[in-house]
Amino acid sequence: MIQKIKGTMDILPAETPLFRYIEGIMREEAENYGYGEIRTPTFENTELFVRGVGDTTDVVQKEMYTFADREENRSISLRPEGTASVARAIIENGKCSDTMPLKYYYIISCFRHEKPQAGRSREFFQFGTEMFGSESPAADATAISLAASVIRRLGLKNVKLHINSIGCRECRPAYRSALVSYFESKKEKLCDTCKTRLDKNPLRLLDCKNPDCHEIAKDAPKTVEHLCPECEEKFKTLCQALDAMKIEYVIDSSIVRGLDYYTGAVFEFIAEGIGAQSTVCGGGRYDGLVESLGGPALSGIGFGMGITRIVLAMKEQGLDNVSGKRPELYIAALGSSAVIKAMEIAERLRRAGRYAECDIVGRSLKAQMKYANKIGAEYTLIIGDSEIECGKAQLRNMTDGSQREVEIDSFTM
Ligand code: ATP
Ligand code: MG
Repeated sequence: MIQKIKGTMDILPAETPLFRYIEGIMREEAENYGYGEIRTPTFENTELFVRGVGDTTDVVQKEMYTFADREENRSISLRPEGTASVARAIIENGKCSDTMPLKYYYIISCFRHEKPQAGRSREFFQFGTEMFGSESPAADATAISLAASVIRRLGLKNVKLHINSIGCRECRPAYRSALVSYFESKKEKLCDTCKTRLDKNPLRLLDCKNPDCHEIAKDAPKTVEHLCPECEEKFKTLCQALDAMKIEYVIDSSIVRGLDYYTGAVFEFIAEGIGAQSTVCGGGRYDGLVESLGGPALSGIGFGMGITRIVLAMKEQGLDNVSGKRPELYIAALGSSAVIKAMEIAERLRRAGRYAECDIVGRSLKAQMKYANKIGAEYTLIIGDSEIECGKAQLRNMTDGSQREVEIDSFTM
């Protein structure tokens, strides 16, 4: 038996309606906020993620699915996230000189070689949005409001918004040295990865999952205490905007985001009750990204929402009762000419856009009626030799059991 790859999932028809319901709300909300859908390739040159996500991140160092293409000297990776690809696409398609802001959304699968567990898989689904060309905190508030609005419409409770600011290129050096001197004094207790991060990207230490590092990071200097006046002002304005929009949040200095390109405002939505992998949405500002990929200096703000974690939260809160379409009509047929007649009626209804089914496995009448019940048909029509002869049959309402006679050849619903 060949089995699926560890950390991937089969989503069967019993569950796809829930996914589609969630994704439908994501699409609708994104479009109500003026975001257009973008589709980019599933794989890209590895270099894009090394530069766009950052070579000191866990994603690039440990989690990417990277392979050599058949063409020589080319390394390719399955996308571990969506932002770098969208940034590449806007540069490559000449969008950087369009009217700002640019707003894009996507629903994609991403690939990361992580330890599979509840809420963490190797192929996972993400709803992502990116906005380019506004440095205003109003843009940050808009992105956050969109994510909050999706969560609200899904009916999810107990999802808390945590926000922070990690500063810009101006305030980063001072903060960086404060961090380095703090962690230097505890260096021997850090994990090996963090020891190297201390030189390359000390901010990453705040995000380390190693329990020792995590404990040490708790008392580290906070970004919000080292912001330049401009970043401080922007963060204040963001908070005011959220207050005015009645979007509840907590300021949480431990939110620093795992990817290298973040600057300024960062945020996460954390769901209670779904276990350790509780961040259902993470995002922030990435003002240096487009430039670092060879485009103009163009600011950006976006987020990624983990659809599988949203599904877990929906299940946990009993919001997963979303079922697929029920057949409007099941035509039960007895005898070979009735079977042909049933096919003819089903075809007529389907061409009119209705959902009709008839027997195609040769069941007995009793078994067909049982099947009609199982698939939840709203109506059934029973056809045998005598019905064909008189051209009339009984249409039965499966909910209340009432029946009425219909003309077989002119019957539509
Ligand atoms: P985490 O800290 O949980 O590893 P992350 O910071 O690596 O998350 P992002 O890169 O910000 O995650 O991705 C955005 C969202 O995608 C996350 O908030 C989460 O909901 C979801 N996500 C990330 N990795 C996975 C995964 N391996 N399986 C399922 N969902 C994931
Ligand atoms: Mg991660």
